[in-house]
Amino acid sequence: MNIGLIAHDGKKKLMQNCCTAYRGILAKHELFATGTTGRLVEEATGLPVHKLLSGHVGGEQQMGAMIEQNQIDLVLFLRDPENPKTNGPDITKAIRMCDIHNVPLATNIATAEVLLKSLERGDLEWREMYK
Ligand code: PGA
Repeated sequence: MNIGLIAHDGKKKLMQNCCTAYRGILAKHELFATGTTGRLVEEATGLPVHKLLSGHVGGEQQMGAMIEQNQIDLVLFLRDPENPKTNGPDITKAIRMCDIHNVPLATNIATAEVLLKSLERGDLEWREMYK
């Protein structure tokens, strides 16, 4: 399955730690990420990541477009709610597109872990039929 990864600056270390902890699960899937998040995840895990543009120069829009085209099956979007600059329209669009296409979306680490465990159990296989 195709997994989308985005982490705001205040959550990038958390994303690296999460991807390291769940490396074994993530290794069985295709990873797509905004530029900096993707580079940091690659550095931390050694897993290949398809890197989009950096978030602030269009990466979030690119991710939103991929979700819009139903090309992403699961999104881990570690947002930073403390930073008002991280609440722009591109974020709203990505979240809206997940809701339109029933793409499982985690916006915090607690839900991210639940979804990764679900992925491992095969609970998200219905996404293959949905596409
Ligand atoms: P980045 O983008 O991974 O390129 O930093 C995420 C963001 O919008 O902060």
